[in-house]
Amino acid sequence: ADKYLNLKRNPNFSELTQEDITFFQSVLPSNNIIVGNEDDLLPYNIDWMRKYRGKSKLIVRPKTTKQISEILKYCNDRRLAVVPQGGNTGLVGGGVPVFDEIVISTNNLNKIRSFDHLSGSLICDGGCILENLDNYLAEKGFMMPLDLGAKGSCQIGGNVATNAGGLRLLRYGSLHGSVLGLEVVLPDGTVLDNLVTLRKDNTGYDIKQLFIGSEGTLGIIAGVSIQTPRKPKAVNVVLLGSNSFEKVQETFIRAKDELTEILSAFEFWDANSVKLIQAHIVQGSKFPLDTNYPFYILIEVSGSNKVHNDEKLSSFLENLLENQIVGDGVVAQDETQAKVIWAIREGIPEACNKAGSVYKYDLSMPLECMYKLVEDLRRKLMDAGVYGKDLPINNVIGFGHIGDGNLHLNVSAQNYTPEITALIEPWIYEWTEKHNGSISAEHGLGLMKAEYLRYSKSSSMINIMKKIKKELDPNGIMNPYKFLPD
Ligand code: FAD
Repeated sequence: ADKYLNLKRNPNFSELTQEDITFFQSVLPSNNIIVGNEDDLLPYNIDWMRKYRGKSKLIVRPKTTKQISEILKYCNDRRLAVVPQGGNTGLVGGGVPVFDEIVISTNNLNKIRSFDHLSGSLICDGGCILENLDNYLAEKGFMMPLDLGAKGSCQIGGNVATNAGGLRLLRYGSLHGSVLGLEVVLPDGTVLDNLVTLRKDNTGYDIKQLFIGSEGTLGIIAGVSIQTPRKPKAVNVVLLGSNSFEKVQETFIRAKDELTEILSAFEFWDANSVKLIQAHIVQGSKFPLDTNYPFYILIEVSGSNKVHNDEKLSSFLENLLENQIVGDGVVAQDETQAKVIWAIREGIPEACNKAGSVYKYDLSMPLECMYKLVEDLRRKLMDAGVYGKDLPINNVIGFGHIGDGNLHLNVSAQNYTPEITALIEPWIYEWTEKHNGSISAEHGLGLMKAEYLRYSKSSSMINIMKKIKKELDPNGIMNPYKFLPD
């Protein structure tokens, strides 16, 4: 991504020496260190979108909190910059190095420590993969309070570090509510041991909140204690075709009103998303609805009583159809069909990635202006004449979590070019600020948005953030060049 090439390596950071490598070899077994071989280093140096690429020469993969502590203390004393990395599914360039920072991967930190059936509290290592945790809990009748398309690779430590939102936030709230405690290793090696399982604990500042969404800039999340809900016994999914974004909003209002306590997800995507999905994900197989609608809605309901859910759902759908609020709809007849409908929604980011290079924006704003941004950007790019040249026609797409006021706006292009970037940024952030939105709803700031933080936070707020960073990481070794503006 060309514009980031203007960044200069901070000369205050030391360069890796053979002596350093010898130290790391004394802490970790040799198979937990990757050094030298470019091919082995590459997966840790490049992000999921293939947009950001660093040049780390060393990857360390500790297995225990003690090893993390020894590594960080050494790096801090030696002024060696580091990047914490979980599943490397982040979408803002936060989890990969910019220059030669050492990658501290949590891949080997993957033990479930305990689960309390009575309270539903789970304690696990930060490197546990989200889907593995969900499968573990499913056997016990529980589930993780969050779910996202990257669940098969992203890790709970990465989820907490990015304050990931995802598909269950509407029902179960954000990680600021469900995380009960954290074990965090600070840059000087101190282990903050706060793995409590209490729902209520008003004793002093709630320090764990600082690390939720801190994107690896303050410490490494080595352990997580999290409140998990009961897995609903009855779940159903509906796919609806809608003729306008106004009707999508009206459907949402009615869903909240009529489905109330059983409503567990409300997602949307536009016709251009369907084109990408058809080209790259559901190729050959049949899309379950007519593909001519400008908008699609996925509604999930869940609860403990199937008869009750079905009754509510069918009267809700009848009302929608009778009043022509939606054009058509399909209700999943079984779990397999429900999975097919979810796969369409969850496949959109992957479809964009397969289509070429993707400019990703993750914004929150008042619902009524959400889709206007997609239309305005489409017009802007059309007026600039980039369509047909660098951009395939109709590849500005909008989808996301309607229930949380969260729009994902993607521009799928053949390549990343400085011209397209300059057309979109900072215009898109100015637009969002003008409409009282946030430039990062759930993906975080990373490398991509550090310099744009001012569009969502006042200078006094940014100053306090800088003071906190200075206090916890005085040498600035934790994930430099990211998150906070220079
Ligand atoms: P990484 O990508 O490895 O790292 C992300 C950031 O967290 C980096 O800054 C890194 O330094 C830091 N970090 C990672 N682990 C730790 C740790 N243990 N301690 C301290 N810092 C750490 N996000 C959403 O919010 N909602 C979605 O619905 C969603 N859907 C997605 C769908 C797809 C297909 C993909 C590819 C991504 C999606 N994302 C979504 C983004 C991404 O999955 C999340 O941000 C996820 O939480 C990142 O977890 P990770 O383990 O991959 O972290």
